[in-house]
Amino acid sequence: MVARGVRRTSSRIGGRLEPFSLVDIQAYEGRSLDSVTQVETISAFGAPLSADYQRWTAGQVMLETAERLTSEEGEPSVQQFLLLVGALRSMSGEEHEAGLILDSFLLRSLSVAGWAPTFYDCARCGESGPHRAFHPATGGAVCTTCRQPGYSMPAEGTLELMGALLEGEWDTAEASTARQRRDAAGLTSSYLQWQLEKNLRSLPLVER
Ligand SMILES: [Zn+2]
Repeated sequence: MVARGVRRTSSRIGGRLEPFSLVDIQAYEGRSLDSVTQVETISAFGAPLSADYQRWTAGQVMLETAERLTSEEGEPSVQQFLLLVGALRSMSGEEHEAGLILDSFLLRSLSVAGWAPTFYDCARCGESGPHRAFHPATGGAVCTTCRQPGYSMPAEGTLELMGALLEGEWDTAEASTARQRRDAAGLTSSYLQWQLEKNLRSLPLVER
């Protein structure tokens, strides 16, 4: 898909193709590339997000993750798209703390992509939880017998917080401590990076 002349300051299409804009486009089907002929803005999340560095960088990570996960699947994903729009709306409306929205989005996106982590039962043998240890390479919580080198021991309640973020149980998530949120953010990004195998460019920019 190509949008011609969008860098011209007079371009009406260019102004509507800003980052974080949800747009409805009309395109002309070309031989190799389709051309954008008309753009209608549905929601412009860029302005509210640009007012807050933490929200802006968290948004960048969400866009990149969605792009990576949909290109991995090789086809447009309606579920990923709806998750992304919901998270951007929540982020620009400041419905929850930016880090919680980001981690909730990341965990849900990974689940939609088929890589749901476990936060209760052991990811290896299935022994009923709760367990304290988390091992990204195994796929989540691990019991004492399944622990392998590289596991983490987050603050108590961290895996419960991550489970709540995955399920969208915001009352539980909001009741978490700063320590649990920090540990949840660390485990979420190490799980994400493990799954994507390569580091996301913008992830280290997010201030926690
Ligand atoms: Zn086990």
